[in-house]
Amino acid sequence: MIGERANNICPTCGGRLEFGLANIPFVFDDTVIVVKNVPAEICGDCHEPFVVGSVTDQVMSLLNQLRMLQSEVSVVTYSEPEVV
Ligand SMILES: [Zn+2]
Repeated sequence: MIGERANNICPTCGGRLEFGLANIPFVFDDTVIVVKNVPAEICGDCHEPFVVGSVTDQVMSLLNQLRMLQSEVSVVTYSEPEVV
């Protein structure tokens, strides 16, 4: 799930969020994209990853690029945006 979270508390179950790397599947009508090693706040109870801040923008940009490939399933490893 992508969204804002408050005070390191999981909005889904109220558990504690801790920083880590997550493999997150994104399901669209025409494709499934798995982004690996995404820096995220991960709930210790329900294991839901929450992507925040600039990571959200980078993940969205990766998803947009991959959807243009029109592959049914894509797996990509998260990488930081290149600083020009
Ligand atoms: Zn939770």
